[in-house]
Amino acid sequence: MEFTSYFKDEKACIKYFEQIRFKDGEYCPHCGHPKIYRMKNFRYRCADCRKDFTIKIGTIFGESKIPLQKWFVAIYLLSTSKKGISSIELAEQVGVTQKTAWFMDMRIRKAMKQGNGKLFGKVEVDETYVSGKHARKDGFRKKSAVMGMLERKGNIKAFQIPNRQTHIVFDKIRRNIDPSAIIMTDEASVYKKLPKMGYRRAGVKHSQRQWAKGDINTNSIESFWALFKRGYHGTYHTMSKKHLQSYIDEFAYRFNSRKSEMSETFENVVRSVSQSDKLAYKTLTK
Ligand SMILES: [Zn+2]
Repeated sequence: MEFTSYFKDEKACIKYFEQIRFKDGEYCPHCGHPKIYRMKNFRYRCADCRKDFTIKIGTIFGESKIPLQKWFVAIYLLSTSKKGISSIELAEQVGVTQKTAWFMDMRIRKAMKQGNGKLFGKVEVDETYVSGKHARKDGFRKKSAVMGMLERKGNIKAFQIPNRQTHIVFDKIRRNIDPSAIIMTDEASVYKKLPKMGYRRAGVKHSQRQWAKGDINTNSIESFWALFKRGYHGTYHTMSKKHLQSYIDEFAYRFNSRKSEMSETFENVVRSVSQSDKLAYKTLTK
């Protein structure tokens, strides 16, 4: 209710997006010039290159005819629905076709992409597998491996990985976990090599039912997997290998925003959109 009264029409949405996009000053998205004129119908004109543009140009909202108001409803739903939201459901709520809803979904997920920051302190590391229908060339029915790293009481980072080979797992660890961290894992032999890499490790013997022994456990990351799989099966039914990472990004984004107010999460996604580049429809469907 509060959301719909705040973003009551297109004008209100544009004003809001202007404040975020031009926070550090106005600029022309074509040439970067800082002086622009306001024209009719919410259009702008660059004082230098003279090109016209709308507030959406140069962002993942793109030059689409979809009004900002619809984008905002979609962002709100996607960033606050715990188990995700299917494109059928989104189409209905936003008032667009399912094809358009899917297109909006994929673009919004780009704004939810995981950042480069490292994890510190006690970090749980674990992998899981998700099954699904994939293109025949990708290995029909083959499962996809997903690797997750979760800082206790902090953020998760999760990635689709081609397999669990040592060099792949360690490369992810090196890129995402600070060497000062203590890593909690299960007994998988790959992690036994962690000390050699300069990481401290505390293992959990699942086979011996020593899961939650004291502080050494992987319970937090397992609850993330449970959430992800509920969304996977319950909402999306299947995720193609090609788009799996964007779904992982979506779930990680919501998980990492779990302690934030909805309005804050919404604003963060919109801010990320305002800094985004164009993403052609072509690159999604190709
Ligand atoms: Zn210009």
